[in-house]
Amino acid sequence: MLHLWHRWKYVYKYSGTECFEEVELPQFRRAYRICTQCGKVQERFTHFDGGVSWYNLHGVKKRILMRRLVDKGDHYYLRPRAQVKSTDAAHKRRLKQLLIDYALIFDDVKLSSGSQSTYYIDARMVTTSSEGASIIAEIMRDVIEEVDAVGGPTIGADPILGALAGKGYYRTFIIRKEPKEYGLCKWIEGQLTEKDKRVAIVDDVATTGRSLVKAIQTVKGHFPHINIAKVVVLVDREEGAKEALSEHNYQLVSIFKASELIKKLKEKQKEE
Ligand SMILES: [Zn+2]
Repeated sequence: MLHLWHRWKYVYKYSGTECFEEVELPQFRRAYRICTQCGKVQERFTHFDGGVSWYNLHGVKKRILMRRLVDKGDHYYLRPRAQVKSTDAAHKRRLKQLLIDYALIFDDVKLSSGSQSTYYIDARMVTTSSEGASIIAEIMRDVIEEVDAVGGPTIGADPILGALAGKGYYRTFIIRKEPKEYGLCKWIEGQLTEKDKRVAIVDDVATTGRSLVKAIQTVKGHFPHINIAKVVVLVDREEGAKEALSEHNYQLVSIFKASELIKKLKEKQKEE
């Protein structure tokens, strides 16, 4: 629309989630104004000497701002930014970095499945570290959600279960590969009871999925009524585990795929 002067409306209320709101000094305060005739948006910058200049907003920043502007008639109101769970993303980023730095090893190795591989994921270097264990507990809780107890095959699951129990998130249990030969000869150690209805099974790394299937069958063998609500691993090597579990009607959830870690590492090496 053709007009001689812009007709400004001011955004004078803005979200507490914006860092500028937190700062008490008025010279740091942010403000926006929008022309009611052409939609032009400007951002105010207040100088230390009290002077004010206006900057035009362009591109992505303008589009984002326009989406958040709510017309209240006599003024505009800036809708709060969508509350993203930034801690979740940060936890995942950090865990990915820890796995790349401490667990991902390139070497010719023989896997428990018997096959040869050019890399190995020594996840225990991360699951047994205090930072790793703490982050893993947070991420796992978000994925697992509501269950009565969480268990997993020893020894891969052990530190993860310890972290979950230590944070007070779940009761946990450990599933043996063979029953203990003395004492109570238990296959399942820990907090799994007859009353439990829904449980989750966790492990650090999944390759063929054989040990996960075996662990689930052990649980089902002793507690036939139990519902295996979730099967979660930190890293899926993508060598058949997903398929093996789906054959038994379980869905494998992985926090990371091995290929993701390798790709990220190669990107990083390229940058350096
Ligand atoms: Zn205008």
